[in-house]
Amino acid sequence: MTTTHCPYCALQCAMRLEPGPDGRLAARPAPFPTNRGGLCRKGWTSAEVLTVPDRLTRPLMRKDRDSDLVETDWDTALDHVAERLLALAAESGPDTVSVFGSGGLTNEKSYTLGKFARLALGTSQIDYNGRFCMSSAAAGGMRAFGLDRGMPFPLSDVGGAEAVLLAGANPAETMPPMMGHLSAPALLVVDPRRSATAQVALDNGGLHLAPRPGTDLALALGLLHAVRVGGWVDEEFVASRTTGFEAAWEHAAAWWPEHTEQVTGVPAAHIRAAADLLGAAARNRSAYVLTGRGTEQHAKGTDTVSAWINLSLALGLPGRTGSGYGCITGQGNGQGGREHGQKADQLPGYRRIDDPAARAHVAGVWGVDPDTLPGPGRSAFELLDALGTADGPRAMLLFGSNPAVSAPDSGRVRSRLAALDLLVTADFVLSETAAMSDVVLPVAQWAEESGTMTNLEGRVLRRNRAAEPPPGVRTDLQVLSDLAVRLGQPPERFATDPDTVLAELGRASAGGAADYSGVTPARLDSGEALYWPVRADAAPTPRLFLDSFAHPDGRARFLAVSHRPPAEATDADYPLVATTGRLMGHYQSGAQTRRVPELGRAEPEAYVEVHPDTAARAGLAAGDWARVTSRRGRTRARVRLSSTARLDTVFLPFHFAGDQAANNLTNPALDPTSRMPEFKVSAVRLEPEP
Ligand code: SF4
Repeated sequence: MTTTHCPYCALQCAMRLEPGPDGRLAARPAPFPTNRGGLCRKGWTSAEVLTVPDRLTRPLMRKDRDSDLVETDWDTALDHVAERLLALAAESGPDTVSVFGSGGLTNEKSYTLGKFARLALGTSQIDYNGRFCMSSAAAGGMRAFGLDRGMPFPLSDVGGAEAVLLAGANPAETMPPMMGHLSAPALLVVDPRRSATAQVALDNGGLHLAPRPGTDLALALGLLHAVRVGGWVDEEFVASRTTGFEAAWEHAAAWWPEHTEQVTGVPAAHIRAAADLLGAAARNRSAYVLTGRGTEQHAKGTDTVSAWINLSLALGLPGRTGSGYGCITGQGNGQGGREHGQKADQLPGYRRIDDPAARAHVAGVWGVDPDTLPGPGRSAFELLDALGTADGPRAMLLFGSNPAVSAPDSGRVRSRLAALDLLVTADFVLSETAAMSDVVLPVAQWAEESGTMTNLEGRVLRRNRAAEPPPGVRTDLQVLSDLAVRLGQPPERFATDPDTVLAELGRASAGGAADYSGVTPARLDSGEALYWPVRADAAPTPRLFLDSFAHPDGRARFLAVSHRPPAEATDADYPLVATTGRLMGHYQSGAQTRRVPELGRAEPEAYVEVHPDTAARAGLAAGDWARVTSRRGRTRARVRLSSTARLDTVFLPFHFAGDQAANNLTNPALDPTSRMPEFKVSAVRLEPEP
């Protein structure tokens, strides 16, 4: 029996893996503060992914784009990849080779991937799928607090609150054990849909505020207005611990609840009621504002996050015990994945790659000249969109990601991936992206190797190895080391043992914002709660900002942000808004969960959630196949009627592939700060599938 953590989302529920009667491992819940002994359906069935029948155990390679992938041996595959990478770099420079990582990789892999890109390839062209997931919250947190730890307090703190406002998150569906912490008497859910979480709020006397998609920034401005008019601003906190309130207020001054209602559709009375509930709880230092992907995945996602942070600052919530602002991370290592250098603009320790002192420190740990380190590269969608173009990369190495399904405007992304001279994917199954690749490298999965993850609270956890990988499979760390040696790196520079990498990561991150220098296997194994920063000579930090925020003057920043409409508008051809999200039974692109029989049976195909009147106008009934078309592409999905759906909006889960992929529709318009695409608002039309 091995105690470890779930392979999926950022709650990182603790579980035991133990042999069942058939000898195969089965997952059982284990006590832990975040999941309190609970698991969701994905967690319960997670061990089945270890034995999926189409598991890859030999490298695959194709001779040319027109031939099939065929099995080969590791030396042949790795020699071929290294030769092609060296040849392409010699021809077109190091930036012709690119790397794409994932918020699902362990801290050790995230760190090594960034180091591999900068040292073994010398390329600036590395980014990761977390750019699609949490980059707006990261940017919003950075500019408000000077530091981005999504939830700067333990999740268990939230359980005792009198009021919780949850914007753009649906944990009742996506991470059900978290609901144990959302028992506040006043639960206020902001979501255009009557989500499972919104229903919980209504059932318990809370509020569901349902703004038109793309207007929650306006709603946050309206709430700030109502908070001030209601006399709920914490004047002492604003004066002593923040700057910029009056400038931010100028942007909120016109957002009377009635005006806010006109733009968002949320009744003015609900806005005032929400402000009063939050304000009264804030007076008792007992209120939280939490945000998720629904606030972030917009071309104005960073400003939307800032608007919610402004509200929390006006109420005096952050930087105090019993109250706060936090962001609910999505991917399993959504927090750690953005700290160790697999992001285009970053070095380990959450350092900026264009900061000379950061470059000198990290180069010192790596034993290289800082001047040899490349600078910032393209963000995730911009990188994918440049592949195979005249000045874009001609090769990509991809770890832990499936952008053929998960990227916005995924048809366009698939055509860019197909335009590459060389696409190499490391995966344990033939995902949709792996199937397009020239070389596929079969790698170990979560329970077959150890490594650390950083959960949504910024707590570093250890995933323990519970099973031998199948013969023929290598770990991602082994693959990176094997390739690095073939690319001319000294063998000792790329360790394959996760604990050795963790120790190096600690040195590289020392002194940075996300400092892991005190994270050791012994401390992890002892069960110590290692919230970062974790220094060797200091206690971990479960609650940040209690004395001061991380800006040089110690104050948090209000940001002056304005509402603006979504990047594209509906019209006669595309009269509806499509918004996307997750289901309880599937995770991300579905490459893992679609292979679990129980989960596949529960949600076997894509669906589109539609109001009955909207469906009738389109000539559709429950159970029909619908065609949903945007300005970028189309998808098909089974009609599911919901009388609580908005008349102007349809919802599609994004876990399905091919002609059922929701991301065939989505808009890659980018946030100017975070470079987050606008997944949440696409203009579409709905019609019967011929
Ligand atoms: Fe917990 Fe998330 Fe895993 Fe479900 S998917 S068991 S909520 S970590």
